[in-house]
Amino acid sequence: MLSLREVSVAYDGKPAIEDVSLELADGQVLALLGPSGSGKSTLLRAVAGLEAADGGIEWDGRSLRGVPTHKRGFALMFQDGQLFAHLTVANNVAYAMRLRRVSSVDRTKRVADLLDLVGLGGYQDRLPGTLSGGERQRVALARSLAVEPRLLLLDEPLSALDAGLRERLAGDLRRILHEAGTTALMVTHDQEEAFAVSDRIALLREGRLVQEGTLQDVWARPTDAWAALFLGYARVLEGAAARTVLNAAGMTPAEEVALRWSAFVADPSGPLTGTVVSARATPEQLRLVVRLPGVGEVDAVADEAPAPGDSVGLRVEPNRLAIPKSTVPESAVHP
Ligand code: ADP
Ligand code: MG
Repeated sequence: MLSLREVSVAYDGKPAIEDVSLELADGQVLALLGPSGSGKSTLLRAVAGLEAADGGIEWDGRSLRGVPTHKRGFALMFQDGQLFAHLTVANNVAYAMRLRRVSSVDRTKRVADLLDLVGLGGYQDRLPGTLSGGERQRVALARSLAVEPRLLLLDEPLSALDAGLRERLAGDLRRILHEAGTTALMVTHDQEEAFAVSDRIALLREGRLVQEGTLQDVWARPTDAWAALFLGYARVLEGAAARTVLNAAGMTPAEEVALRWSAFVADPSGPLTGTVVSARATPEQLRLVVRLPGVGEVDAVADEAPAPGDSVGLRVEPNRLAIPKSTVPESAVHP
């Protein structure tokens, strides 16, 4: 397994990664998630041995200090898979096996298996120039997996693809990594991609690790308001507004609450009443912005379209909100 202990990386004395400690167990997929410039690629490059780092980077308890990139047994895959344009798909995938003098018979078999795994069975003789962006990334993935790396490092592997394809390939990537039993560290700035592909999430902000855990844990208990918003919560309410909403949800009041888009549902018998500010149709549901007295503007979902200015009853869905970890529980404030 991979362990990072207080890893720091600086460029010209300016820190890009500070004191990051993480563990990645065999067979697991960890997403390094954070905004652009938060140090994700820098950390990945340090693990790969492409960037000098302070602190400890270990594999199975043995330090990788001084071990060059090509001797770490890791494979790297980038946003643009960088295939060899003049080689067929089969020869791209077989490239590293050829260097390792794997026999031609074994290579052919393994290439066919890998292409099946990534959904490109029969593509052996195609040239990269004849493939779509998604197909090229699949070939790049097959090539990375060909040498059975003990760790696969992926830097924004789906970012160059358009939205619909990205979503589909994210699901495929998860299946492929699990079927191959690959341990992987994937950099992404897209929280949906992180959730779609990985088992665990490490959230980075300005070079520091903000939170790490399983998808469920991180989503259910974001560390603070910033983390909640970055993970995809729509709003974070504080103080009296938070207490009012938690009260209406039948939950213990707290000083902060993070709300999903669908935390409020239009319901004539709901405990809260507000005024519709705007209504907008989305493919899945009708989304409202509602002004609630003592709370402010909140997002809500509805089945029927009320008009701006209408009065609307709202109920709160307790499983669509979260109390950030940094929040002091009310019971601690007023024992
Ligand atoms: P991310 O991948 O999260 O977008 P990076 O790891 O690429 O972030 O960058 C983190 C910080 O380090 C940024 O401020 C970036 O400008 C800086 N940085 C990255 N690479 C270099 C480099 N080779 N030289 C100097 N600064 C760099
Ligand atoms: Mg990057």
